[in-house]
Formats: sequence, C-alpha cells, structure tokens
Amino acid sequence: MANANVRVRFCPSPTGNPHVGLVRTALFNWAFARHHGGTLVFRIEDTDAARDSEESYQQLLDAMRWLGLDWDEGPEVGGPHAPYRQSQRMDLYKDVAKKLLDAGHAYYCYCTTEELDERREAARAAGRPSGYDGTCREVSDEQKAEYERQGREPIVRFRMPDEPITFTDLVRGELTFTPENVPDYGIVRANGAPLYTLVNPVDDALMEITHVLRGEDLLSSTPRQIALYRALAEIGVGNGTTPDFGHLPYVMGEGNKKLSKRDPQSSLNLYRERGFLREGLLNYLSLLGWSLSADQDLFTIDEMVAAFDIKDVNANPARFDLKKCEAINADHIRRLDPKTFTEACTPWLRAPHANWPEENFDQTAWETIAPHAQTRLTVLSDITANVDFLFLDEPVEDEASWAKAMKEGSDALLRTAREKLAAAEWNADALKAAVVAAGEEHGLKLGKAQAPVRVAVTGRTVGLPLFESLEILGRERTLARVDAALAKLGA
Ligand code: GLU
Ligand code: ZN
Repeated sequence: MANANVRVRFCPSPTGNPHVGLVRTALFNWAFARHHGGTLVFRIEDTDAARDSEESYQQLLDAMRWLGLDWDEGPEVGGPHAPYRQSQRMDLYKDVAKKLLDAGHAYYCYCTTEELDERREAARAAGRPSGYDGTCREVSDEQKAEYERQGREPIVRFRMPDEPITFTDLVRGELTFTPENVPDYGIVRANGAPLYTLVNPVDDALMEITHVLRGEDLLSSTPRQIALYRALAEIGVGNGTTPDFGHLPYVMGEGNKKLSKRDPQSSLNLYRERGFLREGLLNYLSLLGWSLSADQDLFTIDEMVAAFDIKDVNANPARFDLKKCEAINADHIRRLDPKTFTEACTPWLRAPHANWPEENFDQTAWETIAPHAQTRLTVLSDITANVDFLFLDEPVEDEASWAKAMKEGSDALLRTAREKLAAAEWNADALKAAVVAAGEEHGLKLGKAQAPVRVAVTGRTVGLPLFESLEILGRERTLARVDAALAKLGA
C-alpha cells in the first residue's frame, strides 16, 4: 500500500570512494521512497573534518546521478530542512546538546582515557560488562571544581535509561537490548565537536524521518538512538516520533569475509570504468538481500520499485558474486535497443580507450558489427578489444594467441585458406565455406581450421563471429593480413 508520508534518508559520510555497500543502502532507500511515492532525503554526514573530503562529497553526488537515484531533498535541490550538509548545522547540534544537558538527559564526563581504560580492564578481569560504568552520572559541585582545577576537559555523555530497549526491526523482527549492553555514550567531544552518535539521530528527528534503512553494522547504535529520540521528544526537538528501523544484511565477499570498502571489488568506480550499465548494476545489487521472485533474477529498476517492500528483505548475509553481477549486466546489455547499445559503447571507441588512430574509426563498419557484439559483451569496455581489428592498420600482436593458434602445419593451412578466400564471394556464408574446404584438405575440423585465420586477421584467439568479421573487414585487408601472417611464419 502506498504511503506518501514515507520519509527515508541516505546519509553517507564523504570519506573515500563510493562502494557497493553504500550503493545498496542508497538503492533500498530510494526504491522504498519511490515505491511509496514518499521522500528521499540525501544528507551529508561531514562532521569529521579530519576524514571528510570535498572530493569524496563530489563523488557521492556524481555516483547518485550516474545511478539515476534522484533525491527530493538534499544538496543542490534544497528543501524545507536545509542545509543538508551537517558541517553547516553545527550550531544547531550544540544547542540540542545544551538542552539535553539542562534536562538531565546528558551529563559531563570528566574521566580521562587512562581512567576509562583501567576500569574497563578491571571490569573485564572481573567478568563484568566493560562499557562505561556511570562514574560521572553524579558529580558533586566540589568534585567538579576539583576536576576543573586539574584542567580536565569533559565530554558530554548521554544517559541511557535503566530499562531494556525493545523495538521491532523491519527485517529482523523484535529485538531487545539490556542496559548492561548499552552503556552511557559520548555525544560531544571535549573540544566541543558533536559526534555522529548525536547528529545522526538529531537530524533524523528534525527531518522527520519515518524509516531508517541501513546496514547491519549499525544495529548496535540503534538502541542508543531510540533512547536519544525519546529524550529529544521530551525536550521538543523534532516531531516527537521515533522512526522504524530496518537493518540490511551484511554483504560477504571472498572467503566468506565481510566485503570491505577497501576491497577492490567494492569500488563503484571500477564498475563504471568497466562499463556496467546502471540498470545491470542496480539489478544485481538489489539481489543482495532482496528478490523480485524466487525464479526471476533479471528485472528492470521500474519493476523493482513497483515490487519493493522492506519486509521482504532477507536477514541472512548476502554473498557478493562478481560472476553473477557480470552475467546480469550482460543480460541488460542484450536487452538494450540497438541504437542505445551503439551509443552506450561510444566512450570505449574513443580516446583514451581506443588503441587505433581516431581517423581510422568507421561508423558504418561499427554499426554493422555492433549487433554481433551486443549479444556477447559482459561489460561495455570489452568492446574496444572486440572491434579493434577493424580500425587498426595492423591487428594487435598478442603473443599468447599467436602461440596457441599457430602450430606446425598452420602455414600450409593458411596458404590453402588464402587461396580459397581469394576466390570466394565476399559474404560470411561463402567465407565460411572457404575455410571449411581448406580445413578438409588438411584433415582439420572448422574450429581448428579457423583459429589461425582468426589470429592472422584479428590478432586474438577469441572474438566476434569470424566470418561476419571478415565480411566487414573486406577482401583486401583480410588477404593482406593472411599474407603478413604467412610471412611471419616463414621467417
Ligand atoms: N553516516 C553514517 C555512515 O555512513 C550513516 C549511518 C546511518 O545510516 O545511520 O555510516
Ligand atoms: Zn566519566
């Protein structure tokens, strides 16, 4: 059932390059918002000046645009809760921290790192919970004066309630966290800088977020945030409601380890550079925790949006499978209409990808070969090597291919093939018949007979259908390349 009141957010920190885990989170939030006709808020959590960068911020915007995941409020589009970059909202957080302190929901903690470490060790040794022990919950005025005389600079700590926190996760069902496992936690640094633990739920409250859909790695912060929401409601920050939470399953990479953002496979830029289609990549990423139906892996983004429900997300870890991701992308390439396909390949037919002189490019030859490539490509970047034989003056020299295809007797076979090709009518069927006949003379099946021809003409053992390729390349260039190969074999 559509619910236009849905307000979800995508709120990355601009550190490093966008990665697939982040894209999956963005996609699920976007699909949820679009499914309901609700609102996607794009918020930039850039409160950590030491780690955040402007470059990473630009990359995030660029990634969202490339993926076609549009947002309704956020950078560049604005909205009623602007600004959407947390670095521009610092005064607001300081004000909320003060209100929390005044209302007794937070307190100053003067403990030094050494003291905290020491008490944590002691608690561990005694088998007690090792989180913050509440020492500064009650600090007398004299003690406070003494700490200040010593020059200690306090952090602000949030006071967790002494009862368990229970909530119903949209993916995992009912979860309960007991107070021992969720100790009081810092919300403002000693230097006055507000922390993620404060600014994230404060903005969710102010921006009236209804559903928080995010990775399972953040599950442990949820009970803290729920307690903070309740406190915010009491002091009149936000609209007084707590959002629903849904935690998306872990994504596992190689060796069944969690896919890390440092893993090369997780970099979004890699997929863009290899020429994944946005539809293919989004289709695959949506399968990391969700499916359209048990027997349909391939679908469009529109189909996903129409069907997406957070309740159908699976809590079990999802496995990232690059082979499957490529296969799905190949299916999406096949589904493109021919014109869109030829246009989508364009970047890989130009500098810096093209390995031929620009003026050698021949649009007609390209459009003739394109349908053969469309049914075979996994990623668009593969197009360059598949068609370069058409635009290079001489085919690439791939030594491994040459070694594999040119065996004893290849020169004799090539000579026969050259004669028959020279005499053939120049169309794929006749060219095939010529090579079949040449093979028969040497006791070779077509597969074995065509390998040296292919390497002589294209430079490689694998490629697009050979006889169609020869037809497009033309008689003169084909024969010249066979001659060059024969000369090389003779040498
Ligand atoms: N900025 C946080 C992160 O990137 C957001 C976490 C959340 O979705 O609450 O991890
Ligand atoms: Zn303390």
